[in-house]
Amino acid sequence: MRAMVLEAPGRPLVERESPEPSAGPGQVLLRVRACGVCRTDLHVVDGELPDPKLPLVPGHQVVGVTRDGRRFGVPWLGWACGECRYCTSGRENLCDFARFTGYTLDGGYAEWVVADLRFCLAVPPAYDDVRAAPLLCAGLIGYRALRLAGDGERLGLYGFGSSAHIVAQVARWQGRRVFAFTRPGDEGTQAFARQHGAVWAGGSGERPPEELDAAILFAPAGELVPVALRALAKGGAVVAAGIHMSDIPAFPYELLWGERSVRSVANLTRADGREFLELAPRVPVRAEVETLPLSQANDALARVRSGRVRGSLVLVPGS
Ligand SMILES: [Zn+2]
Ligand SMILES: [Zn+2]
Repeated sequence: MRAMVLEAPGRPLVERESPEPSAGPGQVLLRVRACGVCRTDLHVVDGELPDPKLPLVPGHQVVGVTRDGRRFGVPWLGWACGECRYCTSGRENLCDFARFTGYTLDGGYAEWVVADLRFCLAVPPAYDDVRAAPLLCAGLIGYRALRLAGDGERLGLYGFGSSAHIVAQVARWQGRRVFAFTRPGDEGTQAFARQHGAVWAGGSGERPPEELDAAILFAPAGELVPVALRALAKGGAVVAAGIHMSDIPAFPYELLWGERSVRSVANLTRADGREFLELAPRVPVRAEVETLPLSQANDALARVRSGRVRGSLVLVPGS
């Protein structure tokens, strides 16, 4: 099969012809129909996350079908032990022994992928393969971040890419108002944010017209933590949604005072996946999707790096 392979961190992916994987006990072999590109893929490829499987096929927003025609979504959480303190308390996202698709397990930048059936998700029939792919991480980890942000009405989203444009639709449906923050001067993305329901959009350094009840940081920039804290009302939360972030600079305690909080969101549970995929068609969430052939995975990653994406990029094998 054709696959885009990471041979060493910091190097571009290489297109390889490799043997079709075979499914072990409890696993399914899926022909990949679509695989979304995530900011996390870039952290893996750049070597910002420790100890990836090597060589590695990245990609963890996979929609695939079995030979007998059953369609599944393969998300980031590819396996959890089921026995540790986290797994037995409903927090398999924090499992000490978890394995992750496209990081410690081969993922979907390929024609075929093998996945543990217990961790596959049912894809809502209302979505075609390409439009379903971004729901599997951008959507569902974004949704987990939204839940952990609390019930506040005024929601700030820092970084308006694949995840934020989905979260904004859910937040608006829940009756919240969304304030979008982009790279300074990125008027194209600010207009895109307004199209997807933001009541206000501006540069990340700007103060929003009102205090925020919560802010979700999608941009992996630690300097945004004190910036977002400064924009929060008392009792508000800053939620860091990414797996990696540059260092957070020192800031005065008064920014945290007033019961403000800062927290991260790690991975997903299968319950998150089922809950979000049940919700998405009711909103309905519509991801803006641009497709690229699998062989252009490096171009796709470069565009995510530079922010030259409106919505979500999805790789399609055989296109
Ligand atoms: Zn566990
Ligand atoms: Zn992801």
